[in-house]
Amino acid sequence: TDLRGQQLRLLMQGARRPLAIGTCAILLAAFLIHGELPARYISIWAVAGFILAAGRFAIISRTERLLGDAVRLKRWSMVYAAALFLAGLHWGSLMLFWSSGLPTATQMELLLFPIALAAGAVAGYGVWMPAYLAFLLPCLIPVIMMFLLADVDGYATLAAPGLLYIAGLILLCKQFQKSTCESIQLQLENQNLINDLSEQNSQLENAREHAEVASRAKSEFLATMSHEIRTPMNGVLGMTQLLLRTDLDDKQKHFGETIQQSACSLLSIINDVLDFSKIEAGKVNVEKIEFEPRALADQVCHLMRGNAVEKGLELSFRADPDVPEWLRGDPTRIMQILNNLIGNAVKFTEQGRIELSMSVQSDANDSLDICHLSLAVSDTGIGIAPEKQDIIFQEFSQADGSTTRNFGGTGLGLAISRQLAQLMGGDLELKSAVGKGSTFTFKAPFEISEGRAEDRACNELLSAQESSPGVESLSGLRILLAEDSPVNMEVASAMLESMGVDVVQVENGKEALDAVCQCLLPQGRGTKRLFDAVLMDCQMPEMDGYEATRRIRSLGEQCTRNIPIIALTANAMAGDREICIEAGMTDYLAKPFTAEELAEVIILRTTGMGGGLSQAA
Ligand code: ADP
Repeated sequence: TDLRGQQLRLLMQGARRPLAIGTCAILLAAFLIHGELPARYISIWAVAGFILAAGRFAIISRTERLLGDAVRLKRWSMVYAAALFLAGLHWGSLMLFWSSGLPTATQMELLLFPIALAAGAVAGYGVWMPAYLAFLLPCLIPVIMMFLLADVDGYATLAAPGLLYIAGLILLCKQFQKSTCESIQLQLENQNLINDLSEQNSQLENAREHAEVASRAKSEFLATMSHEIRTPMNGVLGMTQLLLRTDLDDKQKHFGETIQQSACSLLSIINDVLDFSKIEAGKVNVEKIEFEPRALADQVCHLMRGNAVEKGLELSFRADPDVPEWLRGDPTRIMQILNNLIGNAVKFTEQGRIELSMSVQSDANDSLDICHLSLAVSDTGIGIAPEKQDIIFQEFSQADGSTTRNFGGTGLGLAISRQLAQLMGGDLELKSAVGKGSTFTFKAPFEISEGRAEDRACNELLSAQESSPGVESLSGLRILLAEDSPVNMEVASAMLESMGVDVVQVENGKEALDAVCQCLLPQGRGTKRLFDAVLMDCQMPEMDGYEATRRIRSLGEQCTRNIPIIALTANAMAGDREICIEAGMTDYLAKPFTAEELAEVIILRTTGMGGGLSQAA
């Protein structure tokens, strides 16, 4: 039915042109015979033709408005076919003049009209055979009749080729209709495909929206979970650290250290889960800052050597001489990858050695200022079976089930490392043989840098730990601590007091703002010395840390604009640091933190120098 509807639509859409041609042909025919026959006959014939043409015009105009209504279109197409029949008959009637003593030349000219129009009509009405037949038969049958009835020698024999001509035209029309139908069918199929596709697209779009909602819900859940876990973790780790500083007998010390180790393992699992979800949500951007690859690798080895030596393993580092001194990239993320690889190597090696080697691979396509750095961590450990070598890079996957029982772990480290490597435009590869050991190679392209003078100065400053100020430089500082959790208040206060800091405690942002305002009162009205720094929890009742910071910054005094405000927050999702900085805070320390990390950030922000006390993440 769709096909028929489409045929009729095409017929009606193309109906104006044959009508125009037919009308011109009436004029031409009338002109040719106007001197040969009485004017009355010619006028009657021509006027009848014009009336028919006007009728067809009206039908066409009416039908054009009904192209979308299949039932009415069908009805009006029948009316149109009837009009075509009359038009055909009108041309056929021309043959009535034939026997009226016209000269042979004019007779031949008149004969040409129905013959030519019948042929041309294939293109005009051939889309729908009944319409074509309605025109063809009344147009040409009178010609055949005229051949048979004319009393002229030889004319009767023309009837046979005439009939053949009609049959040929019908075949031609059939062919035309067939190919038109095929192309309509193709169009319809195309349309169906497009419809299917757009339906699938909208289903996909729906699925994508659902997935996005689910992913947002997951991120929100992770953010909340992270916050909720970090807050008590700060209490556990902080209190344990404080406990371990008191006088304990060996047994108590052992218990305390075990709590600390377990809490650290728990924290690293939380960090891994968070990191993974951040990468998955596309919220991790790799930095491009200058760093010294050798110094970085040295630092990681220095940190990991303790664990290796404890297990009786040797950990060495070797760098090729052609490794550039300075590169541009994300040193924190590279350290994260190396920590994970060396951590695994130590975990899965019982005896032998671990080697970190650094080299440069040249690539003919590289420009002069790009270098492909390769960092390989090899061990002589248990190795990984070939069939497991792909699996271990998937999240939450381990080489075998006994790994968790023997060594613990979440199976996230390598998944995170590989994704970080890929974010840097590189990759993480593995070569391993069971029982012989494994080599994990991190490769990525980096820009070669000259190393800016201030970076060098900064690096030298950071590495010269002895010369930088220590905890003692905190002694005598007056610090405002805004924290609503009593346990965390106690942890931070105890840490600060043990460093000789004078701590002023407040429980929310409003109190923090009041405490700062108090210091600004004119002399003689209980004015106190302004704080050297403010440690600000972010989520607090009455007024949160962000609002309090904004208000302190807008107090209008030079001193409150410059006072270091450091966020102490359990919000550790991507973007949280930026939110703090935007609110006007100077720095950010994620909970849980150690006393060393706390001291370092205060020294950095109050003296402008890193204390080198810890390798805070
Ligand atoms: P996790 O160490 O937390 O289990 P990883 O993603 O870091 O997670 O490692 C996944 C698995 O890959 C490990 O559980 C272990 O089976 C295997 N693996 C990783 N590094 C080594 C290595 N150096 N030697 C042997 N097996 C390894």
